[in-house]
Amino acid sequence: MSGTAAQGPRLRPVLDGIPTYKPGRPASATDGGPAYKLSSNENPYEPLPGVLDAVVAAADRMNRYPDLSCADLTAVLAERFGVPPTHLATGTGSVGVAQQLLQATAGPGDEVMYAWRSFEAYPIITRISGATPVTVPLTPGDVHDLDAMADAITDRTRLIFVCNPNNPTGTVVRRAALERFLDRVPGDVLVVLDEAYREFNRDEQVPDGVELYRDRPNVCVLRTFSKAYGLAGLRVGFAIAHEPVAAALRKTAVPFGVSQLAQDAAVASLRAEDALLERVEALVGERTRVAEALAGQGWTVPESQANFVWLRLGERTADFAAACERAGVVVRPFAPEGVRVTIGETEGNDLFLRAAEAFRKEL
Ligand code: PMP
Repeated sequence: MSGTAAQGPRLRPVLDGIPTYKPGRPASATDGGPAYKLSSNENPYEPLPGVLDAVVAAADRMNRYPDLSCADLTAVLAERFGVPPTHLATGTGSVGVAQQLLQATAGPGDEVMYAWRSFEAYPIITRISGATPVTVPLTPGDVHDLDAMADAITDRTRLIFVCNPNNPTGTVVRRAALERFLDRVPGDVLVVLDEAYREFNRDEQVPDGVELYRDRPNVCVLRTFSKAYGLAGLRVGFAIAHEPVAAALRKTAVPFGVSQLAQDAAVASLRAEDALLERVEALVGERTRVAEALAGQGWTVPESQANFVWLRLGERTADFAAACERAGVVVRPFAPEGVRVTIGETEGNDLFLRAAEAFRKEL
């Protein structure tokens, strides 16, 4: 036996220093009052009509593997978006699909670019792939700096994430800027338009990524059932991409990763579109109410097209999050930059607004 055996298995050095993904903290009531979790951009509503029944029916068959190809879900999605089924790939949440995209495109020596701050999983999955993260700061208005991103492309760039609307700022990139950017990206670099919050967008100048993908073979659109559709706990997301990319995603998928519960729930959710749109509209209304109230209190809030708002609190980030928690709302601090607050139930939003107002008065 070699002397190194006592040191245990050798792990890849790229893992050193990679943080584990931090989930939003659960809500915990202080002094018995109500508690609201506004820390994970979840949908506060119960499952859409028909969804629970579909899940219960699927649960009856949990001794069987799910449909590997997600055929029913793929067929419904293909029809919904007007794309060939071969351009669809499902996965364990859109973060799972994003990780598969990296496995398919990037490794040591390659570069993966994204704006910063953006979705906190990008640096983790990029570094796990072994590729080098290249981050481009958001503009002072917290929007993707697409010109600077195009300037930062090198011959080692393999994949670029554009998160639209951006998590955690809620800001968007509009059609003209995005098309100008796409025109500058070499055809062999994959651009991933992460549209996890697409359903909450009300800015008509924000393009639908699915339209941009159609005549651009290097564009891939990521969508999820976790946010507007309210299926975060079931883990199902998907990509729309041209065939070589979609085929690569099918190769890199964890076999049977998307459970039958998730597949059937997603299909039932797509069939409950009217109820979905009503709920999304209610959340968008709450977003406007919260944003206006914050502005009235004197906060500067970037315009959000997602189901959350962003407060750039700098060094006061942790204090603000603690004050919210004492008031019964758990928010998401990204110290030392700011706090992201999910739009939730009206009562939770009200509690948050009261906490924000009290904090503001003490500044
Ligand atoms: N993309 C963005 C921008 C997100 O904010 C999230 C969830 N926080 C995801 C992808 C992943 O969502 P899921 O894996 O649940 O589909």
